[in-house]
Amino acid sequence: MVLPTLAIVGRPNVGKSTIFNRIIGERISIVEDTPGVTRDRIYGKGEWLGKEFALIDTGGIDMGDEPFLSQITQQAEIAIEEADVIMFLTSVEAGITDADEKVAQILYRADKPVVLAVNKVDNPERRNEIYDFYSLGFGEPYPLSGTHGIGLGDALDAVFAAFPQEGQAPEDDSIKFSFIGRPNVGKSSLVNAILGEERVIVSEIEGTTRDAIDTKFQSAGQEFTMIDTAGIRKRGKVYENTEKYAVMRALRAIDRSDVVLVVLNAEEGIREQDKKVAGYAHEAGRGIIIVVNKWDTLTNKDNHTMQEFQQHIRDEFQYLDYAPIVFVSAKTKQRLKNLPAMIMTVSENQNRRIQSAVLNDVLMDALAVTPTPTINGKRLRIYYMTQVAVKPPTFVVFVNDPDLLHFSYQRFLINQLRQTFDFDGTPIHLIARSRK
Ligand code: GDP
Ligand code: GDP
Repeated sequence: MVLPTLAIVGRPNVGKSTIFNRIIGERISIVEDTPGVTRDRIYGKGEWLGKEFALIDTGGIDMGDEPFLSQITQQAEIAIEEADVIMFLTSVEAGITDADEKVAQILYRADKPVVLAVNKVDNPERRNEIYDFYSLGFGEPYPLSGTHGIGLGDALDAVFAAFPQEGQAPEDDSIKFSFIGRPNVGKSSLVNAILGEERVIVSEIEGTTRDAIDTKFQSAGQEFTMIDTAGIRKRGKVYENTEKYAVMRALRAIDRSDVVLVVLNAEEGIREQDKKVAGYAHEAGRGIIIVVNKWDTLTNKDNHTMQEFQQHIRDEFQYLDYAPIVFVSAKTKQRLKNLPAMIMTVSENQNRRIQSAVLNDVLMDALAVTPTPTINGKRLRIYYMTQVAVKPPTFVVFVNDPDLLHFSYQRFLINQLRQTFDFDGTPIHLIARSRK
């Protein structure tokens, strides 16, 4: 499903990040431990009256050493390109500044709806001051207080009224996947190479956002949707090379995918940014395949080359031990034919449901082989296990005390599940609940 997208723009210090954090709130994460992975706070999901939407804080996109006005300009342009609706944030504290005027000028040229909000209206007396902001030319200004959480409801009502109407997209049971990775690993080459190989279904599905270019193709009787954010194909803008923007693109692609293909570059090896990108996919609970591209560039390969590279990946991405690895070349098309079948398998595994009776047989065997630990004189007891969700497969174990189910025993149980059932390519979530 394509979420409607809201972008917040405005000069520095008006409170964009504060509003952004207010809207997305604190997301509760039940994923397996992933050391060192924290989300950049520039892209998130919000919910208003039971409806989800995507949210971008353009202020969080780091433009490096660009001059001040040029940064504001670029951030506004990103908002125009990415969003369905733009929230133009100003502040009552400083009134209308030159920088606000600059942002307004760029937004005039956009054919996207703009909702004007005035932040830092912390008390009712200040409400009288927001009328000046009509002069910016975006209609009614909505007063907000990010610190006190006042006014967001009315502003979000206006945002939702301006979102494109949903409901036209037909039912779709294709498997959605995307290539993610840092710049230059070969994502767009892979996209083009695959589309050259497979039978592309030409009818374009109207999405709710215009910038998403999705391509459907059929392979082995299964329909696939390759998710391609506009950035991969439309080239040549300065900001596309900024790391945070690339990260935001990746996060948006991940959110829309069933299976994420994390692309590495065989020629350059594994970099810090690769780990970040892979971490996001893991955190999101998507199916993952690690694709090592440019395999053709390694000359003098022998029997061990692939094995060594594989080991290197396992060492560097320990939390992705479930992800299959494939070595390809977009240039020579080596092994590209295998990808659709692999994606299909991972998607099936993500959707696998295990009956409780079968599950508990496995649990009993596991407990017999490796008895539960005793911690501070207290023995962990596991009574029962049941699967509560798919995508990713999520299991609840009922125990005497959830605090006694430490990471290593959790790990052990997950491994037992993996050994018994095919969960290749999918993370598994395990939640402990106490049963008195
Ligand atoms: P950004 O640069 O636009 O992302 O702005 P920030 O969210 O970082 O906020 C800039 C400053 O304004 C911070 O010191 C915030 O605490 C403060 N601030 C944000 N919202 C409000 C508000 O509603 N009222 C007041 N008084 N201060 C606010
Ligand atoms: P992206 O930034 O991840 O989309 O990467 P591109 O698809 O633009 O590729 C970056 C560069 O790597 C281009 O010059 C491609 O021609 C080259 N490239 C991509 N895939 C391969 C490959 O499999 N083998 C070789 N030798 N070069 C490749």
